[in-house]
Amino acid sequence: MSGTASASNSDPVPARAHPDAGSGGSPDEGLDAAFFLRWLAAVAAAVGREADRLTALDAAIGDADHGSNLRRGFTAVATALDADRPGTPGAVLALAGRQLISTVGGASGPLYGTLLRRTGKELGDARRVSVAELGAALRAGVAAVAQLGGSAAGDKTMLDALMPGADALGASDAAGDPFGAARAAAEEGARATEALRARKGRASYLGERSVGHLDRGASSSALLFATLAEVAR
Ligand code: ADP
Ligand code: MG
Repeated sequence: MSGTASASNSDPVPARAHPDAGSGGSPDEGLDAAFFLRWLAAVAAAVGREADRLTALDAAIGDADHGSNLRRGFTAVATALDADRPGTPGAVLALAGRQLISTVGGASGPLYGTLLRRTGKELGDARRVSVAELGAALRAGVAAVAQLGGSAAGDKTMLDALMPGADALGASDAAGDPFGAARAAAEEGARATEALRARKGRASYLGERSVGHLDRGASSSALLFATLAEVAR
């Protein structure tokens, strides 16, 4: 035998872990680090597929970099998570948030980075979290985004999808389909930005001319919830 140098340094499984710990869990059993690793890998793939669309949305009312910003950021997230494999949901989200902040130059990097870091901080060092706990943590993360951006619902930003999505996840009864409800709420919030006038970020420089276009950050936020629903299924 040539030794075990390539063995992964996975976390020791705690005595109270569910027998399928590490498989990602189902929403009923609680969500573990593997679930969040799968989510962020799915986000990286979705952002890669949708980057051109997101950049085109940004070309209309911004500077045509939203898709490339997020592709760079989530590629770095996927690489860091693959290398580190953090053992708790909170640590997965915190590492992802740090990567976004350090690799994305645009406004969306610090904002999404803050969302994930703050959500991760709320989850603490729990090995499994319930859907309701994730909903509450995401709401705190979204509040941190609003604080950092000095923005509110209706400003035609990512908040217009993040707020309804997090609220739906937090409010839903886990026996129903909270992930599907969150996805639908975020998509509806993103669609509704088309009629709004931008009050924050680059698009606000256009004033009335920002009306009639989807906000690109709200569109990428809807993707976060769509991938969450896919991974939960
Ligand atoms: P930049 O505007 O620096 O080019 P991006 O194009 O990557 O950055 O991201 C733009 C998105 O960031 C917008 O569509 C909007 O959703 C979000 N955004 C910008 N400023 C704010 C803010 N102050 N609060 C909340 N979201 C914001
Ligand atoms: Mg931009």
